[in-house]
Amino acid sequence: MDCLFCKIAAGEIPSNKIYEDEQVLAFYDIDPQAPVHFLVIPKAHIPSCDALEESEDPVVSHVFTVIARLAKQLGLTGGYRIVNNCGADGGQTVQHLHFHVLGGREMGWPPF
Ligand code: C5P
Repeated sequence: MDCLFCKIAAGEIPSNKIYEDEQVLAFYDIDPQAPVHFLVIPKAHIPSCDALEESEDPVVSHVFTVIARLAKQLGLTGGYRIVNNCGADGGQTVQHLHFHVLGGREMGWPPF
């Protein structure tokens, strides 16, 4: 399958990896939008949040516990933002489920 994040998960395309286990991979975003900006992805190919199946609940839950752990490790003590861009109007550009974690500065609201 011609999926960029599948190739990153398989190690075929390099990434600035922070953490990985059997289910998920975390790596720094190549185009950071905050002092700390990393992505957490399931290794299995899931196209988007909108495509999630109930059987995939455990990996999504795991993504969030990994995010909390990494945020602590990376010193995001003041908080951080988790973003999922879903679909074209949501601003999704890579069709493999991923969660952005942004921190190290105060975030604005609403996002545009
Ligand atoms: O939510 P969206 O699909 O737009 O996010 C994709 C993200 O993947 C972007 O923030 C982009 O910088 C990042 N990216 C990356 N490494 C690549 C290609 C894209 O970190 N090789």
